[in-house]
Amino acid sequence: MSYLSAQFAPIPCILPYTRFELGNIRCLALEKVAESLELPCRFQNLGCPDMFPYYSKLKHEQLCRFRPYNCPYAGSECLVTGDIPTLVAHLKNDHKVDMHDGCTFNHRYVKSNPQEVENATWMLTVFNCFGQHFCLHFEAFLLGIAPVYMAFLRFMGDDNEAKNFSYSLEVGGYGRKLIWQGVPRSIRDSHRKVRDSYDGLVIHRNMALFFSGGNRQELKLRVTGRIWREQ
Ligand SMILES: [Zn+2]
Ligand SMILES: [Zn+2]
Repeated sequence: MSYLSAQFAPIPCILPYTRFELGNIRCLALEKVAESLELPCRFQNLGCPDMFPYYSKLKHEQLCRFRPYNCPYAGSECLVTGDIPTLVAHLKNDHKVDMHDGCTFNHRYVKSNPQEVENATWMLTVFNCFGQHFCLHFEAFLLGIAPVYMAFLRFMGDDNEAKNFSYSLEVGGYGRKLIWQGVPRSIRDSHRKVRDSYDGLVIHRNMALFFSGGNRQELKLRVTGRIWREQ
Protein backbone atom coordinates (compact mmCIF):
# COMPACT_ATOMS: atom_id res chain seq x y z
CA MET A 1 0.00 0.00 0.00
CA SER A 2 2.92 2.33 0.52
CA TYR A 3 3.15 2.85 -3.24
CA LEU A 4 -0.20 4.59 -3.28
CA SER A 5 1.24 7.65 -1.64
CA ALA A 6 4.29 7.77 -3.91
CA GLN A 7 4.63 11.09 -5.69
CA PHE A 8 6.36 9.96 -8.84
CA ALA A 9 5.24 7.79 -11.72
CA PRO A 10 5.91 5.22 -12.96
CA ILE A 11 5.74 2.78 -10.08
CA PRO A 12 8.67 0.30 -9.93
CA CYS A 13 8.10 -3.42 -9.29
CA ILE A 14 9.46 -5.31 -6.32
CA LEU A 15 8.97 -9.07 -6.42
CA PRO A 16 7.15 -10.39 -3.37
CA TYR A 17 9.21 -12.33 -0.81
CA THR A 18 12.56 -11.81 -2.47
CA ARG A 19 12.99 -8.07 -1.81
CA PHE A 20 14.71 -8.03 -5.15
CA GLU A 21 14.17 -4.80 -7.03
CA LEU A 22 13.81 -4.99 -10.80
CA GLY A 23 15.22 -1.59 -11.50
CA ASN A 24 13.02 0.50 -13.78
CA ILE A 25 10.59 -2.17 -14.88
CA ARG A 26 7.11 -0.70 -14.46
CA CYS A 27 4.55 -2.48 -12.39
CA LEU A 28 1.48 -2.11 -14.59
CA ALA A 29 -0.78 -3.97 -12.21
CA LEU A 30 0.03 -1.61 -9.36
CA GLU A 31 -0.26 1.39 -11.66
CA LYS A 32 -3.77 0.19 -12.60
CA VAL A 33 -4.75 -0.02 -8.94
CA ALA A 34 -3.30 3.42 -8.29
CA GLU A 35 -5.24 4.86 -11.23
CA SER A 36 -8.56 3.73 -9.80
CA LEU A 37 -8.04 5.40 -6.41
CA GLU A 38 -8.87 8.95 -5.45
CA LEU A 39 -6.07 10.55 -3.50
CA PRO A 40 -5.81 13.91 -1.79
CA CYS A 41 -3.62 16.62 -3.31
CA ARG A 42 -0.21 16.72 -1.59
CA PHE A 43 -0.93 20.32 -0.62
CA GLN A 44 -3.99 19.27 1.38
CA ASN A 45 -2.36 20.59 4.57
CA LEU A 46 -1.96 23.98 2.85
CA GLY A 47 -5.68 24.14 2.10
CA CYS A 48 -6.31 22.20 -1.13
CA PRO A 49 -9.58 20.27 -0.76
CA ASP A 50 -9.36 18.32 -4.04
CA MET A 51 -9.12 14.55 -4.58
CA PHE A 52 -7.72 13.00 -7.73
CA PRO A 53 -6.96 9.70 -9.44
CA TYR A 54 -3.22 9.02 -9.21
CA TYR A 55 -2.04 10.48 -12.51
CA SER A 56 -4.29 13.52 -12.61
CA LYS A 57 -3.14 14.19 -9.05
CA LEU A 58 0.46 14.51 -10.23
CA LYS A 59 -0.62 16.84 -13.02
CA HIS A 60 -2.79 18.91 -10.70
CA GLU A 61 -0.03 19.31 -8.11
CA GLN A 62 2.25 21.02 -10.63
CA LEU A 63 -0.37 23.76 -10.96
CA CYS A 64 -2.23 23.56 -7.65
CA ARG A 65 -3.02 27.08 -6.46
CA PHE A 66 -2.14 26.01 -2.91
CA ARG A 67 1.40 24.95 -3.84
CA PRO A 68 4.00 27.04 -2.03
CA TYR A 69 5.59 30.03 -3.76
CA ASN A 70 9.33 30.47 -4.15
CA CYS A 71 10.97 33.39 -2.39
CA PRO A 72 10.77 36.35 -4.83
CA TYR A 73 14.06 37.84 -3.69
CA ALA A 74 16.48 38.02 -6.62
CA GLY A 75 20.22 38.15 -6.55
CA SER A 76 20.69 35.17 -4.27
CA GLU A 77 19.84 31.52 -4.53
CA CYS A 78 17.25 31.61 -1.76
CA LEU A 79 15.48 28.27 -1.42
CA VAL A 80 12.75 29.37 0.98
CA THR A 81 9.19 28.51 -0.12
CA GLY A 82 5.86 29.18 1.52
CA ASP A 83 2.53 30.94 1.36
CA ILE A 84 2.39 34.72 0.85
CA PRO A 85 2.26 35.76 4.55
CA THR A 86 5.27 33.51 5.25
CA LEU A 87 7.22 35.00 2.36
CA VAL A 88 6.34 38.59 3.29
CA ALA A 89 7.69 37.97 6.80
CA HIS A 90 10.73 36.22 5.35
CA LEU A 91 11.52 39.14 2.98
CA LYS A 92 11.25 41.58 5.85
CA ASN A 93 13.15 39.63 8.49
CA ASP A 94 15.75 37.67 6.52
CA HIS A 95 16.38 39.83 3.43
CA LYS A 96 15.76 43.15 5.23
CA VAL A 97 13.62 44.32 2.31
CA ASP A 98 12.01 47.77 2.48
CA MET A 99 8.26 47.54 3.10
CA HIS A 100 5.85 50.31 2.13
CA ASP A 101 2.13 50.76 2.65
CA GLY A 102 0.23 52.44 -0.15
CA CYS A 103 -0.44 52.28 -3.85
CA THR A 104 1.76 55.15 -5.02
CA PHE A 105 5.49 55.41 -4.66
CA ASN A 106 8.36 57.75 -5.24
CA HIS A 107 11.63 55.97 -5.01
CA ARG A 108 15.21 57.13 -5.39
CA TYR A 109 17.89 54.82 -6.65
CA VAL A 110 21.41 56.02 -6.05
CA LYS A 111 24.47 54.17 -7.19
CA SER A 112 27.95 55.64 -7.01
CA ASN A 113 29.56 53.28 -9.54
CA PRO A 114 27.04 52.94 -12.37
CA GLN A 115 29.72 51.46 -14.65
CA GLU A 116 29.40 48.12 -12.88
CA VAL A 117 26.39 46.99 -14.71
CA GLU A 118 25.99 43.28 -15.02
CA ASN A 119 23.72 42.07 -12.25
CA ALA A 120 25.49 44.55 -10.04
CA THR A 121 22.59 46.73 -9.04
CA TRP A 122 19.31 45.35 -8.01
CA MET A 123 16.87 46.30 -5.35
CA LEU A 124 13.59 45.03 -4.11
CA THR A 125 10.85 47.00 -2.39
CA VAL A 126 7.59 45.45 -1.24
CA PHE A 127 4.32 47.41 -1.39
CA ASN A 128 1.27 46.58 0.64
CA CYS A 129 -1.67 47.88 -1.38
CA PHE A 130 -5.31 46.73 -1.77
CA GLY A 131 -4.52 44.15 0.92
CA GLN A 132 -2.06 42.51 -1.47
CA HIS A 133 1.72 42.57 -1.77
CA PHE A 134 3.72 43.71 -4.78
CA CYS A 135 7.47 43.48 -5.40
CA LEU A 136 9.13 46.38 -7.20
CA HIS A 137 12.40 45.23 -8.75
CA PHE A 138 15.09 47.57 -9.93
CA GLU A 139 18.26 46.31 -11.49
CA ALA A 140 21.07 46.70 -13.97
CA PHE A 141 22.06 44.27 -16.67
CA LEU A 142 23.38 44.10 -20.20
CA LEU A 143 20.78 44.09 -22.95
CA GLY A 144 22.93 42.62 -25.71
CA ILE A 145 25.89 44.94 -25.34
CA ALA A 146 23.91 47.89 -24.02
CA PRO A 147 23.94 48.50 -20.27
CA VAL A 148 20.40 49.14 -19.07
CA TYR A 149 18.40 49.57 -15.91
CA MET A 150 15.04 47.98 -15.56
CA ALA A 151 12.17 48.39 -13.13
CA PHE A 152 9.17 46.08 -12.98
CA LEU A 153 6.47 44.95 -10.62
CA ARG A 154 5.57 41.41 -9.55
CA PHE A 155 2.43 40.38 -7.73
CA MET A 156 2.68 38.14 -4.69
CA GLY A 157 -0.06 35.73 -5.70
CA ASP A 158 -1.30 33.79 -8.68
CA ASP A 159 -1.44 34.95 -12.26
CA ASN A 160 -5.25 35.14 -12.46
CA GLU A 161 -5.24 37.62 -9.56
CA ALA A 162 -2.25 39.58 -10.88
CA LYS A 163 -4.32 40.39 -13.98
CA ASN A 164 -6.74 42.40 -11.85
CA PHE A 165 -4.09 45.08 -11.36
CA SER A 166 -2.16 47.55 -13.47
CA TYR A 167 0.76 49.76 -12.65
CA SER A 168 2.70 52.65 -14.08
CA LEU A 169 6.31 53.75 -13.66
CA GLU A 170 7.84 57.08 -14.59
CA VAL A 171 11.37 58.36 -14.68
CA GLY A 172 12.71 61.55 -16.19
CA GLY A 173 14.37 64.89 -15.93
CA TYR A 174 15.32 67.95 -17.96
CA GLY A 175 12.06 67.95 -19.87
CA ARG A 176 12.22 64.25 -20.87
CA LYS A 177 10.18 61.47 -19.40
CA LEU A 178 9.90 57.70 -19.84
CA ILE A 179 6.59 56.16 -18.85
CA TRP A 180 5.74 52.50 -18.58
CA GLN A 181 2.30 51.04 -18.01
CA GLY A 182 1.99 47.35 -17.40
CA VAL A 183 0.35 44.45 -15.64
CA PRO A 184 2.22 43.00 -12.65
CA ARG A 185 3.54 39.50 -13.21
CA SER A 186 2.86 36.77 -10.71
CA ILE A 187 5.83 35.67 -8.61
CA ARG A 188 5.06 32.22 -10.03
CA ASP A 189 7.05 33.60 -12.99
CA SER A 190 10.68 33.77 -11.97
CA HIS A 191 12.31 37.12 -11.62
CA ARG A 192 14.69 36.08 -14.42
CA LYS A 193 11.85 35.17 -16.77
CA VAL A 194 10.17 38.57 -16.33
CA ARG A 195 13.45 40.38 -16.77
CA ASP A 196 14.35 38.47 -19.90
CA SER A 197 10.98 39.28 -21.46
CA TYR A 198 11.62 43.02 -20.83
CA ASP A 199 8.16 43.30 -19.32
CA GLY A 200 8.88 46.56 -17.52
CA LEU A 201 10.45 50.00 -17.73
CA VAL A 202 13.81 49.71 -19.48
CA ILE A 203 16.15 52.70 -19.21
CA HIS A 204 19.36 52.81 -21.18
CA ARG A 205 22.31 53.77 -19.02
CA ASN A 206 23.11 56.86 -21.05
CA MET A 207 19.59 58.14 -20.52
CA ALA A 208 19.66 57.13 -16.84
CA LEU A 209 22.87 59.12 -16.33
CA PHE A 210 21.36 62.04 -18.21
CA PHE A 211 18.32 61.95 -15.90
CA SER A 212 20.71 61.76 -12.94
CA GLY A 213 22.22 65.13 -13.85
CA GLY A 214 25.54 66.18 -12.44
CA ASN A 215 28.74 64.82 -13.91
CA ARG A 216 27.28 61.51 -15.14
CA GLN A 217 29.47 59.67 -12.61
CA GLU A 218 26.65 58.81 -10.27
CA LEU A 219 23.27 57.25 -10.84
CA LYS A 220 20.49 59.19 -9.13
CA LEU A 221 17.14 58.12 -10.48
CA ARG A 222 13.77 59.02 -9.12
CA VAL A 223 11.16 56.47 -10.12
CA THR A 224 7.55 57.29 -9.37
CA GLY A 225 4.71 54.88 -9.82
CA ARG A 226 1.21 53.84 -9.03
CA ILE A 227 -0.70 50.56 -8.70
CA TRP A 228 -4.43 50.39 -9.38
CA ARG A 229 -7.12 47.80 -9.62
CA GLU A 230 -8.78 47.23 -12.98
CA GLN A 231 -12.59 47.36 -12.98
ZN1 LIG B 1 -4.12 20.90 -4.88
ZN1 LIG C 1 14.42 34.41 0.47
